[in-house]
Amino acid sequence: MLDGFLAGQSLRVEKVKKQGGEILHFLDPAAPLPEAGTQVRGQLDWERRYQQMRTHTAMHILCGVIFRDYGASVTGGDMDPLKGRMDFEFETMHGELVSAIEASINIEVAAGREVRTAILPREEAFQIPDLIRTKINLLPEGIQQVRVVEIVGLDLQADGGTHVRNTAEVGRMRVVDYKSKGKINKRIYVELD
Ligand SMILES: [Zn+2]
Repeated sequence: MLDGFLAGQSLRVEKVKKQGGEILHFLDPAAPLPEAGTQVRGQLDWERRYQQMRTHTAMHILCGVIFRDYGASVTGGDMDPLKGRMDFEFETMHGELVSAIEASINIEVAAGREVRTAILPREEAFQIPDLIRTKINLLPEGIQQVRVVEIVGLDLQADGGTHVRNTAEVGRMRVVDYKSKGKINKRIYVELD
């Protein structure tokens, strides 16, 4: 995630990756790199991070509403700060349906649902139907603990991301577009204010 800088604001972090016990920070190769061995301080780009947190929670609201109201599962998705898209196992998608979905997700924003995270032992997580539905079985065998993110009363997923604490923080969501990506695959585009 492009959520921060190193060495003041001169070096934007373009990618972060865990490798063994180390966390690698990838920078723009054209940036003026400090000399090898120089100690630098990291700084979070809080504005961007908070937008990303709101957007991530927005995606979970969308998943939760669509599964609750239509029984459709997610097949993929992507997001950037303040906008995202998700693919669902839907046969048909049309303007009226999109309007209904938009109204429903904004009701969940307005409801101010609490967002909670927890770490569960693998065996316990594998017993929870909501988590099984979101393909928790794909989790590598070596992972013994599962972090879960719950929008209380709406959605529960195994998830490592950062989220806001309450759906009210997401703010108004707009469904800005939709398209067919196959017979039972429809893509929905969402933007935040
Ligand atoms: Zn997520």
